[in-house]
Amino acid sequence: HSNHKRIIKRTKSLSTTAMKKSLLWVACVSLMMASCKKENELIEVKIPDPEVETKISALGNPADVKVTEGGIFQMRGLKYAYDDLEPHIDGRTMEIHYSKHHLGYANKLNKAVIGTDLELKTVEDILKNLDVNNKEIRNNAGGYYNHNLFFEILNPKGGGTPTGALAEAITTEFGSFDHLQKEITDAAAGQFGSGWAWLVVTRDGKLAVTSTANQDNPLMPNAEVRGTPILAIDVWEHAYYLNYQNKRNEYLTAIFNVIDWNVVNIKYETAISKI
Ligand code: MN
Repeated sequence: HSNHKRIIKRTKSLSTTAMKKSLLWVACVSLMMASCKKENELIEVKIPDPEVETKISALGNPADVKVTEGGIFQMRGLKYAYDDLEPHIDGRTMEIHYSKHHLGYANKLNKAVIGTDLELKTVEDILKNLDVNNKEIRNNAGGYYNHNLFFEILNPKGGGTPTGALAEAITTEFGSFDHLQKEITDAAAGQFGSGWAWLVVTRDGKLAVTSTANQDNPLMPNAEVRGTPILAIDVWEHAYYLNYQNKRNEYLTAIFNVIDWNVVNIKYETAISKI
């Protein structure tokens, strides 16, 4: 039963209907397992009510990833399982990225702020008022903020094109979504070495595409284009190397299939409302 790689644990109480569907699903699986003939069909079965589930793949549960005790800045979890973004982003990459790289930034940030006047500030305030010579804070507050945004704007049901106010702004300022996608992709592909590509709302309320090196971001005082990030694309090799190796462009094409434009639109509207 090699195809039975996903285990789904329901952590919240189920509605009666969902419970019935669930029991039906379990019954189907049991029948199929008994016969072992139609094994390949198992992965086609839809699980009801995904919004009330904590999904746990064989790669582990993102909710189990916690910062070292006493840490101020917490891991925020994922709204999908590590392997839910496949085939666009593989599960192993997501698991290492979230539970090792992102956790590392969170723990190092917590260690760097403890006992300082930064420990009472939000990460956004820390970044906006950053002393760029403080490398511990610059790298780790940057890494923590950037990864929170990156993981938040991904969704297995993402892709397509933006809607709402963001869609209108993109048409006005970039001519079309295709043109915006090309600008983001070019910025991401052209970032030499490790870094990020961004869609930001500038301080005069316009959209802008930019890239930054390492864990820098557009909130920082040293940024070439300053503004509020609403979309982050990680172009560190750890974000794609297992699946795409040196083919950064293939990763960049693929990631547009899992960008959650609803979340990006909400971030756009929030940023615009604060101008
Ligand atoms: Mn990363």
